[in-house]
Amino acid sequence: MIEVKSLHKAYHARAVVCGANFSVGAGEFFGIIGPNGSGKSTLLKLLSGVASADAGEILLGGKPIRSYARKELARIVAVLEQEALPPVGFRVREVLEMGRYPYQNWLGEEGEDSTVLIDDVVRMLGLSELQERKLDELSGGEKQRVALGKALVQKPQVLLLDEPTTYLDIGYQIQLMDIARSWQKNNQVTVVAVLHDLNLASLYCDRILLMHKGRQVSVGKSRDILRSSLIEQVYGIKPIVMEHPIHQLPQIMLQPGS
Ligand code: ADP
Ligand code: MG
Repeated sequence: MIEVKSLHKAYHARAVVCGANFSVGAGEFFGIIGPNGSGKSTLLKLLSGVASADAGEILLGGKPIRSYARKELARIVAVLEQEALPPVGFRVREVLEMGRYPYQNWLGEEGEDSTVLIDDVVRMLGLSELQERKLDELSGGEKQRVALGKALVQKPQVLLLDEPTTYLDIGYQIQLMDIARSWQKNNQVTVVAVLHDLNLASLYCDRILLMHKGRQVSVGKSRDILRSSLIEQVYGIKPIVMEHPIHQLPQIMLQPGS
């Protein structure tokens, strides 16, 4: 579904993404991890077409991403970024309706009635009671579900998530990841998620890309990536890696430094 070839991006002559090469299969749940500032969000911006690469190429469904018109791209790729929610004052239902813009003409009219689709997303995200609430009257967890809802009503083939669980407590983290995964499975959606929690990445991602200082360190299954030596090399700490007793996937235990 996505092919990334020798991708480079610099800001002010400083390389931020430097030689990324990977592909993401249709229907895959693909994770991106790496320390702060390693270029994860920039890579996601390149994948969503918000930023353009200085060199290299991204193919989406076999076609260069830059060959898609803006609205056409928005019908294929949706992005969840909490900061991208509209300013306060808008109501939850209005925000979800905004997610339908790729399907609207210049008058804001849509050929198909999206009421049923939006109702479904509202129900699935547990937002029924909150539809008439204003964004500034929501908790962090509720806002994050609205942001996900806005992306889902776009009916994308590719869903990009940038640290979707940041600021959420463990209950909401699992809830949000479960919703993303069940949507992905039911709709054969391709998910690319930047995650800072390595344990969540291990539990939810089919494969993981590890980045460090703009470079792609490794891509593979969680047991190939969440290795103590690799984590130490990239994050500068030596965690204990254990197997999850039920899921047989690597999980990381942190140790205080001496
Ligand atoms: P991550 O998401 O992994 O924390 P980012 O992709 O946000 O990393 O940022 C990588 C580096 O690029 C950082 O050093 C950041 O300061 C820089 N950067 C990101 N966006 C811009 C921008 N629009 N202009 C200049 N520098 C940027
Ligand atoms: Mg980031």
